[in-house]
Amino acid sequence: MIYLDHNATTQPAPEVLDEMHDALERAWANPSSTHAPGQAARRLLADARVRVAQFLGCQGAELVFTSGATEANHMAVTGALALGRQAGESDGLPGRPPRHRLVLSAVEHPALLALAARLADQGVPVDLLPVDACGRLDLARARALITPDVALVSVMGANNETGVLMPIAELAALAHAAGALLHMDATQLPGKSRWRFADSGADLASVSAHKLHGPKGVGALIVRKGLALPALLAGRQERNRRGGTENMPGIAGFAAACDRTARSLADDLAHMTALRQRLEDGLRAALPGVVVYGDQAHRLPNTSCLRFGALDSEQVLGKLERAGVVASSGAACTASGTQPSHVLLAMGESAQHAKASVRFSLGRETTSADVQRAIDAARRAIGPLLAPAATTAFPARFMAA
Ligand code: PMP
Repeated sequence: MIYLDHNATTQPAPEVLDEMHDALERAWANPSSTHAPGQAARRLLADARVRVAQFLGCQGAELVFTSGATEANHMAVTGALALGRQAGESDGLPGRPPRHRLVLSAVEHPALLALAARLADQGVPVDLLPVDACGRLDLARARALITPDVALVSVMGANNETGVLMPIAELAALAHAAGALLHMDATQLPGKSRWRFADSGADLASVSAHKLHGPKGVGALIVRKGLALPALLAGRQERNRRGGTENMPGIAGFAAACDRTARSLADDLAHMTALRQRLEDGLRAALPGVVVYGDQAHRLPNTSCLRFGALDSEQVLGKLERAGVVASSGAACTASGTQPSHVLLAMGESAQHAKASVRFSLGRETTSADVQRAIDAARRAIGPLLAPAATTAFPARFMAA
C-alpha cells in the first residue's frame, strides 16, 4: 500500500517507538512525586521539554504539553477570551469597548470552527476572515475586522487540506496594533517547513506530535513568555497551566520525533517538493481535467489538493485504494452523507467541486517509485471514468474556441 495521507497522520518513527517503550519501562513513576523514581521521571520530562522546545524554536518554559492540537486550540481560544475579559475589567475606562471578539479564518480546522460556533451560541461575537480562490487570506478584510474590541485572532499557519500558507507575521502585526493576541494553529508546519515559534510573531501556537512521526494524543500549546494564559484544565502540572499527570511516553515520543525530524529536515523539504511536482505533472499528463487547488507559490511542500474533473472524491478514493494508493478528501462524512469541503467552499468552489477534492500528502519516506505507482494507479483506475467526456468526438464546428 502506498500511503499518501501524511497530513492526516504519520507513522511513528522507530526511534519514537524506542523512546516511548523506554519511558513506559523506566520513567513510569509520577513526575510530581518527590521520591527517587518520581525524580527520574521528572528528569526525563525536563529533557524532553528542552528537545521539543529546541526543535520548535521556543523556550522550554513556553511549552505546555497537551493531549494534542485540538486541546491546545481550545486552551488558546478560551484563555485569550478570559484574558480579554480581565483586561476590560481591570482598566474600567469609560467608553472603552469590551475586548471580547474572536476573529478566525473561514478555513480553520473543523474542531476549532466547532468551538467558535459554540462560543457564538453563548454570545461571543465571532468573525470569519475570508480567503480568495487560491486559498489566500484576505488581509484587507483582516485589517477592517481587527479592531480594539478583539481579544484573539486565530489563524492556522498552513491549511491542512490545501497546504496554503497564511500570512501570520502580517496578522500578528495587525492583532498587536489593535491590542489583541495572535494564535496560530501550527499543526501542519513542523517537519514540512522551517517554522520556529520565536520568528513567527505569534503569541500562541498549537502543535501535535502525530503529524511529525510522533505518537497520537500528545502535543503542545506554546505560550509566549510573560503571557499569563489561564489553564483549560485546572491543576498544578505544567506550572499550573495544564492539570493532569503528564503523558510520559507520549512526551518522550514527541521529543524523539522532533530530534529525528530535525536531523533530515533540509533534505526532506527538497525531497517532498520534487516529488510533489512530479506527482502533479504526472497526473496532469496522464489524465484530462486535473485541477490543482491553492496558491502554487505559497504551499507546504508535501500537499497536493486537486480534483479529477468533477468526479466525486468518494468514488476516486475508493478506486485508488483498490489500486493500492490511499489518500483523503477534504469532504467530511456525516450521518447525512458526504458534506463538501468547507475549505473549498470558502475558496468559492461549487458544492459539486468541493465534494470532488482529493488530497495527496507526501511524507519524508515517500519514494519516487511510490509517486510513479500512484500516477499509474490513477491513470488505470480513474482514467476510464474521465475518458467518455474527454474523448467524445465533437465535430470541430461545435467546439468552443
Ligand atoms: N489543526 C490542524 C490544522 C490539523 O490538521 C489537525 C489534525 N487533523 C488538528 C488541528 C487536530 O490535531 P490533534 O489530532 O492533535 O487534536
